[in-house]
Amino acid sequence: MSDELALHGVSAAPGVTVGRAVVLDRIGTYPAVTVSLTERVEEAARARRALEAAASELERIAEELRLERRGDEADIVETGVLMAMDPELISRVDTLITDLGLRAPDALLEAAEQTAAELARLENAMLAQRADDVRSVGRRAAACAAGASQSVTEGILVAATLGPADVAQLARKASGIALAGGGVTAHAAIVARSLGLPMVVSLGAGVLEIEDGEEVVVDGDRGIVVRRPGAERVSVARGDAERRRVARETAVARRLVPAQTKDGHRIRVLANASTTAELHEATQQGAEGVGLLRSELLFLEASAWPSLQQQVDVLRPVLSRLGGRTATVRLFDFGGDKTPPFLRGVRARGIDLLLESSEALRTQLVAIVEAGAGTELRILVPMVTTSGQLKSVREMLSTILGGRSAELGAMIETPEAALGAAEIASHADFLSIGTNDLTQLVLSLDREQSRTAPVTDIRVLRLIDATMRAARAARIPVDVCGEAASDPRAMPILVGLGVDELSVAAARVGQVRQWVREIDFSTVRKESEKLLHQAGQAGGECV
Ligand code: PEP
Ligand code: MG
Repeated sequence: MSDELALHGVSAAPGVTVGRAVVLDRIGTYPAVTVSLTERVEEAARARRALEAAASELERIAEELRLERRGDEADIVETGVLMAMDPELISRVDTLITDLGLRAPDALLEAAEQTAAELARLENAMLAQRADDVRSVGRRAAACAAGASQSVTEGILVAATLGPADVAQLARKASGIALAGGGVTAHAAIVARSLGLPMVVSLGAGVLEIEDGEEVVVDGDRGIVVRRPGAERVSVARGDAERRRVARETAVARRLVPAQTKDGHRIRVLANASTTAELHEATQQGAEGVGLLRSELLFLEASAWPSLQQQVDVLRPVLSRLGGRTATVRLFDFGGDKTPPFLRGVRARGIDLLLESSEALRTQLVAIVEAGAGTELRILVPMVTTSGQLKSVREMLSTILGGRSAELGAMIETPEAALGAAEIASHADFLSIGTNDLTQLVLSLDREQSRTAPVTDIRVLRLIDATMRAARAARIPVDVCGEAASDPRAMPILVGLGVDELSVAAARVGQVRQWVREIDFSTVRKESEKLLHQAGQAGGECV
């Protein structure tokens, strides 16, 4: 009988991998030795030097990231430098050593933990995740004070939490990440996803009992980490990791080969990318541009509507790398699980919320037009339910554009939008189907489930088909930017229904381009028609 032990967490980046654990945090790593009174001044100085060393390490990592043109990751890492130099943190460390006699590494970990706990108490999910960044700085400094440097060769990183600098530095050679804490929207998770590293978070303290060098499987698809994995699981994981490695190499090698079906039908494969790290990976894999830049993700911690300059500052580094390629920037889709502190308690979401705050909408349009200069710019409106919303945005946009041009598109991600697609399409330059929300809303699922829910449910397929017909009548292109665009079962059906573009996560671009090359358009078209027809006749709900 198998002796496997599965630890359950939350999937933060997909893929399955097997490897030897490299445990960065261990409960009680530093034995609680009390420093004698005479040595405390020197011990406190040692702790301060360790913080300075950690800050310099982070500066060096940021510099390397900039040289690799990964500017926004560099910016994130640099916030760690500020944290390491934070006077409050330094004074906490001092107190713990001089008053309580803690050793420098213990004091650094404890002071970071106290600061992190304060952030976590602010009851704001995003700030709570910055708490992880402080812990990461504390751990880095503690390692410096203990005379060890954080370097990893290969393996599965196991830690309580990881800051973005840890991921950027350590994950280059790592094959997967398992964290006791952490959240899926933490910066570390964003970096892991853009690097294509399987990652499971929120596993609880049990994950820190894993021994250094122990073989574990990280299953980022199911959100589990398996200790003592059986032979079959190991072989499946090896197969998956090898497939991803080969697929990425092939994707990069074939980035200039068009995404065209066997019978010559072209599909544009674009990337869902909001950061330069994601754009870098997407471009390497042959993305023809950005099909969805989720602008709200860049401001989830905002305490007010972002200013023009703040928006230009974060958009320009991404958009300026696109040259003349397509840049689809979605207007803020705040609300639901993407509510920044200043909007807490506000019910409206997406375009409704923006139309209620018309100055914020105007500022965002100006920022996008300015930052998107030189790209083939498209502005996408989230959570559309009526054509009137689109008309209002177009009116405002026309006063801003001057001589410049930008296309305006509607997200079709609500049943109302799909049912009213003909009217909406007559006011749009393109449509983009958001299968994540559409599936959730049509099938009454919760958002997390909807990411794996069957887009092939006939109730959803009918709405997609209605959208396609409306777009064809209006002679405008249709993109799919929800997760279904990179789902191996849904993707051929979507192509068969006639979608023109698929916009997928950066790490999936090459794989999706390859799938397009492997299908036959006339075959998938017939199969999609048959699915709709059969389900219609049977009156059933699932196909
Ligand atoms: C969608 O709903 O499918 C979509 C792409 O938007 P988001 O996932 O950002 O809600
Ligand atoms: Mg959506």
